[in-house]
Amino acid sequence: MGISVENVSKEFGSFTALDRVSVEIKTGSLVALLGPSGSGKSTLLRMIAGLDTPSSGQIFLSGQDTTHRSIQERNIGFVFQHYALFKHLTVRQNIAFALEIRKVPAEKVRPRVQELLQLIQLEGLGDRYPSQLSGGQRQRVALARSLATQPSVLLLDEPFGALDAKVRKDLRVWLRRLHHEVQVTTVFVTHDQEEAMEVADEIVVMNQGRIEQVGTPAELYDQPATPFVMSFIGPVNILPPPTARLFPGQNAGASQALFLRPHDVVISPTREDGMAPASVSRVVHMGREVQTELTLSDGASFTAVLPRDRFDQLQLQRNQQVFVKPKQARAFPQQHAAPIEATV
Ligand code: ADP
Ligand code: MG
Repeated sequence: MGISVENVSKEFGSFTALDRVSVEIKTGSLVALLGPSGSGKSTLLRMIAGLDTPSSGQIFLSGQDTTHRSIQERNIGFVFQHYALFKHLTVRQNIAFALEIRKVPAEKVRPRVQELLQLIQLEGLGDRYPSQLSGGQRQRVALARSLATQPSVLLLDEPFGALDAKVRKDLRVWLRRLHHEVQVTTVFVTHDQEEAMEVADEIVVMNQGRIEQVGTPAELYDQPATPFVMSFIGPVNILPPPTARLFPGQNAGASQALFLRPHDVVISPTREDGMAPASVSRVVHMGREVQTELTLSDGASFTAVLPRDRFDQLQLQRNQQVFVKPKQARAFPQQHAAPIEATV
């Protein structure tokens, strides 16, 4: 079931949480809503679910206007970060819950629950209680529970947010596989850009109640439409206008800042076309990569990251004079923000 959000706004009193948001989510796709805390992700998800209604605009599911239909009429599965399982029910009973409420006959419930237990790879744990599971296992059960009634849309609001980093990473891979098997239209909310890029085919980047850009992970990384997207999707140095003009080859306008990713810096011992002199002000070893801080002739500093073998070739040392240029960078109108150094 495809989802179509058309010009949806949501006001809470005088505060605009969503500002004329339009987005198309194709049937069977796995889409991430990505943005900082407070950008309106949960609000949008709640509107799609029918847990709340827009102040204006419309939401279509499978082409049907469902803006004012209840959650029960939408056939949607939902998992939240703290969507607790029923403590007094076993895993099997938790998964069966929605089916039993709908009075599905027991002989149909059993095989369905078994199938879901297989899907979440917890076949052996059906008789355990939630307290006897790890956090990651619990979220898998929550997912199985939301899939029991075969929803047409699955909405996940930071489902792995409360888990530790390693478990989260495993669950991302697991979720991709699960989506591949079930093929249900899935919208996944996260504030973690790495998580969005790893899980989703397409990412909707939100900021202050608006959509900044919609694209594949590669499109967002390589062709960010706005300074916000470029800064949010990966580390970036922002060189303010006067500094930007030390690199004339980049064609930054008089009032434009240059957005430069630390991985996109060319460093050379000799001056090449388009290069500016710089001194190495810091070297940080990070295993396979080395991070250096470079200071330009006007005193501005920025961060570059280079592969270990390139670093060894250059034999970079503190205070060494080198020449640098962007391999690629993007010019955007200067932000009000002060120049920042990327933290990798
Ligand atoms: P996100 O999920 O991206 O962190 P939310 O959608 O939860 O953001 O919230 C977006 C903005 O709307 C926030 O500033 C939040 O405080 C505000 N907001 C959300 N729900 C309500 C509400 N029921 N009443 C008032 N303000 C709300
Ligand atoms: Mg939220």
